[in-house]
Amino acid sequence: MQKRAFDIDVVMHRVRAVVEPLPKAMLFELVDAGHTSPFEILVACLISVRTRDETSLRMAQQLFARARTPAAMAGLAINEIDGLIYKCAFHLVKAEQIHTLASLLLEEHGGELPCSFEVMTSYPGIGPKCANLALGIACGEPKIGVDIHVHRITNRWGYVVSRTPEETMRVLEKQLPRHYWVEINALLVPFGKHICTPVSPRCSTCPVLDMCAQVGVTSQR
Ligand code: SF4
Repeated sequence: MQKRAFDIDVVMHRVRAVVEPLPKAMLFELVDAGHTSPFEILVACLISVRTRDETSLRMAQQLFARARTPAAMAGLAINEIDGLIYKCAFHLVKAEQIHTLASLLLEEHGGELPCSFEVMTSYPGIGPKCANLALGIACGEPKIGVDIHVHRITNRWGYVVSRTPEETMRVLEKQLPRHYWVEINALLVPFGKHICTPVSPRCSTCPVLDMCAQVGVTSQR
């Protein structure tokens, strides 16, 4: 196939169309279900680390059915939180981190999670990805949540050349138009799960094949 110049607007438009019928990324499903506070989004992101989206969604819903605020969460015992999120990876560590987060928010911030990158990343288990997702989704700030899907796909496109998600975030902050900063995660999570998969991506039916450099793709469908 003859390739044409990469155009991020065309790519985002086509990706938006192709993921439209697919299940949304877990955090965006939670928002649709009314879990819109920075605390809920941050906790849900922590639950999702190294855990499949479907499992993370169920665990987060189970936890939020019992506690949705720092005050309610701090009132649960760590083993109760653990029992509610037991199917996610490192559930006991995450239960301890969620309890600590909730307790510290009560002590230090009156039980409200401030929309602050510095505050969020000062808590155990919270890295730049989850802080940016919470800021972008729940605080309405222009932030890019770079997870493994965003990192892998933007590199395959040839839009970014980087070795780590952190580096990808810095590159995207320089060149991705701001109106895509929150949306890129919402689009590339389902796109990465169903089309541009980690192994053998579905290039033959991909809507952006004509603009994708397919960097590092050695086998494809
Ligand atoms: S052409 Fe292949 S590598 Fe490129 S975005 Fe599509 S599925 Fe991914």
